[in-house]
Amino acid sequence: MNKKILITGGAGFIGSALIRHIISNTENSVINVDKLTYAGNLDSLECIEGSNRYFFELSDICESHKIEKIFKDYQPDILMHLAAESHVDRSIDSPSEFINTNIFGTYVLLEESRKYWADLENDKKRNFRFHHISTDEVFGDLEKLEDLFTEDTPYAPSSPYSASKASSDHLVRAWHRTYKLPILITNCSNNYGPYQFPEKLIPTIILNSVKGKKIPIYGTGKQVRDWLYVDDHVRALLHVAFNGKIGETYNIGGHNEIQNIEVVRTICRILDELLPSKNNISKYEDLISFVDDRPGHDARYAIDASKISKDLGWTPDESFSSGIRKTVQWYLENTNWCDKVSEKTNS
Ligand code: NAD
Repeated sequence: MNKKILITGGAGFIGSALIRHIISNTENSVINVDKLTYAGNLDSLECIEGSNRYFFELSDICESHKIEKIFKDYQPDILMHLAAESHVDRSIDSPSEFINTNIFGTYVLLEESRKYWADLENDKKRNFRFHHISTDEVFGDLEKLEDLFTEDTPYAPSSPYSASKASSDHLVRAWHRTYKLPILITNCSNNYGPYQFPEKLIPTIILNSVKGKKIPIYGTGKQVRDWLYVDDHVRALLHVAFNGKIGETYNIGGHNEIQNIEVVRTICRILDELLPSKNNISKYEDLISFVDDRPGHDARYAIDASKISKDLGWTPDESFSSGIRKTVQWYLENTNWCDKVSEKTNS
């Protein structure tokens, strides 16, 4: 049966990819609840906004009366909660919005979901799911090369961002344990792909290179991240939302552990091929500039994604080399989108 999926943060990077996928490839409906912060852009949803299965509600998830009304009006079958403040550097400069949206906002959604779910009946009640979308950053970092984050790794967040996401994960688990709310949690590694806000690492590398600006690398650039193409994340999220076991957590990762400096060099090599530089440099790598490391910067993240693969049959389709090439091409072809979203932040 077709489902009504309430998605928070659907105008952001991953949320918009999720909505484009659902509307284009399934018969399900989507209600997108987004406050449209600097990171939220309805332009990312232009290709599906005419669909009669897509609805948009401009709302802050912290405003309980609005969330209550949205539940009443739309009667959703699944909630997929992505709305968050998500940029680690911003969380270091100014943590308060992270505490507000990521912790208090999640609490509001849990309470409104609990009230809504308590009044549901029969199949609608049995099948309701609260799917909380979280990050591998809640685990802190890994010391030994052979270590991987599993679903049982203890939480040890390092930044205000990861601490706020860890708090929200704990709240979601508590609402299951105490009130039996049917929850699911996913913790995913670093995503990359089209429509990612220009301030994040990969878009910054591409856009600075094209403009002949320096490419800033924190510290030595030796930090290791596990990169996942955003459309692979989206498919994983739908596997979990539709088939995950109530109360369970699933780790999602791309099996692509790469040092930041290697990510930069790979992008530079693709750009050398696709758009040979007209600036005063022989190759894009000449723009690399090492800057002071971020305080509390985690050294290595790596995910063991065997549970979601074994239990739900999900594995990523893209390798890093195929996904990063698509991503670079997308940014080169969509400079309008980049200019528009950057203008909004600067205005
Ligand atoms: P994003 O910053 O691109 O988008 C966040 C969206 O949430 C924006 O559309 C913004 O307008 C909206 N939002 C923020 N505060 C809100 C509020 N108070 N009320 C309603 N809407 C609000 O983030 P993203 O990269 O798409 O990440 C989405 C989710 O996935 C986040 O919860 C993040 O923690 C998690 N995650 C991200 C990554 C990654 O690599 N980007 C990896 C793992 C998990």
